[in-house]
Amino acid sequence: MNVRTRFAPSPTGYLHLGGLRTALYTWLFARKNEGKFILRIEDTDQEREVEGAVELIYKSMHEAGLDYDEGPDVGGNFGPYIQTQRRDLYLPYAMELVEKGAAYPCFCTKEELQERRDAATKDGGQWKYDKHCLNIPREEALRRMQAGEPFVIRQNVPTTGTASFDDALYGHVEAPCDTLDDNVLIKQDGLPTYNFANVIDDHLMGITHVMRGTEYLSSTPKYNLLYEAFGWDKPTYIHLSPVMKDSTRKLSKRYGDPSFEDLLAQGYVKDAIINFIALLGWCPDVKTYGEKEFFTMDELVEAFDLSGLSKSPAIFNTEKLIWFNHEYISRMPVEEYQKMATPWFDQVLGGKNMDYAMLSSLMHTRTEIFSRVPDQIRFLAELPEYDIAIYTHKKMKTDAAVSLKALELALPALEALEDFSEENVKTVLMDLAAKNEMKNGQIMWPVRIAISGLASTPGGATEIAYLLGKEETLRRMRLGIEMLKKSV
Ligand code: GLU
Repeated sequence: MNVRTRFAPSPTGYLHLGGLRTALYTWLFARKNEGKFILRIEDTDQEREVEGAVELIYKSMHEAGLDYDEGPDVGGNFGPYIQTQRRDLYLPYAMELVEKGAAYPCFCTKEELQERRDAATKDGGQWKYDKHCLNIPREEALRRMQAGEPFVIRQNVPTTGTASFDDALYGHVEAPCDTLDDNVLIKQDGLPTYNFANVIDDHLMGITHVMRGTEYLSSTPKYNLLYEAFGWDKPTYIHLSPVMKDSTRKLSKRYGDPSFEDLLAQGYVKDAIINFIALLGWCPDVKTYGEKEFFTMDELVEAFDLSGLSKSPAIFNTEKLIWFNHEYISRMPVEEYQKMATPWFDQVLGGKNMDYAMLSSLMHTRTEIFSRVPDQIRFLAELPEYDIAIYTHKKMKTDAAVSLKALELALPALEALEDFSEENVKTVLMDLAAKNEMKNGQIMWPVRIAISGLASTPGGATEIAYLLGKEETLRRMRLGIEMLKKSV
């Protein structure tokens, strides 16, 4: 079988992470089976459309590495791939269903519907369309349509029996027909609803496997009635469990949960996001992969199998994502790290002419998320205020008096140093310790505190001194001496 899958987002905003996961699984399934992956834009609900959202979908797909074989901006033999550009092809299919008795035109006005809905729900009852217009003889209905009377076309769901389908993950899903509404297939504006367009387009585009969220699980039996009425082959359905923020609610932009673009902007690495998202509700075969957690895109393609999908909701664990991100950053070559870190370094050090290669080697394994880098290196731009209590360190055997002595020894020694390289700074400070019968830490610790103002820093005294340069290092040491003199 030639597998053809599709990702069919509606352009209603950013690509949220649940959507990204659907796209990823669909893509992986296509690639694994050497099939085609298609992007289709489902924009028939024009009121919900957000300007620029279509371009953002292209951009996000591109950034995520989910290349599609067919789509609005890449073409293909089954286009157009934007539903509003296909608007004229839906009505004839709807009319075919009308002919077959599986659909019917409806002329009820909004007001009429509201009135009947109010009456039906007045005592707490449920409303579904009452098939009022099903009774209009077909000839008359066609005449009224041709005369220009506003109409919609509704699906004629049987009143008895059940509608069902088989899901690859959830198994047999069944709904009693008398619980199903006669959904609108074609709206007054001539555009199809999602309920109709997804069926028509999946068929016309030759889609063999449909992957989408479980929110469509309950309406899919109804879509199957349409396939049956047309006499078309049904695709294989794979509904995907929701991605949850916690046990009570779905991940949602509305509650400020990040989109894919947000994560990238916050300094998460694409491959880390993809690796993390892939494992949200899917698990590689234990026999082959054991506890393996790190997967490249190629390895994911190789490992992806529907049997690893989970029916339980997946919880989006931010800590775990941060852990993945940190691992990915630590494992990347330092040159790549520097390239990615440079804009974040620039935020606080722009114009300071600092050695970013050295800074990168210090920060490389200390970066969990790039957006945290500016705060971690701010001390290089500006000496923070600090409490002189941090000069006192038991293990280093330092206190205020030892620190003052150390700084007073180190200051002239470093002043005399011409080539302020890290190596040279180190040699000078180590020599000082040896000559004065002090432990290395008794020199290094006070110098580090004086020039960073922090008890914990990326890199030690010598690296920081080198990064700051001679002038700034000496200035900060003099300040330290002044502070310590006041206290001892
Ligand atoms: N346009 C639908 C959505 O964005 C897609 C559902 C489907 O894949 O059929 O949720």
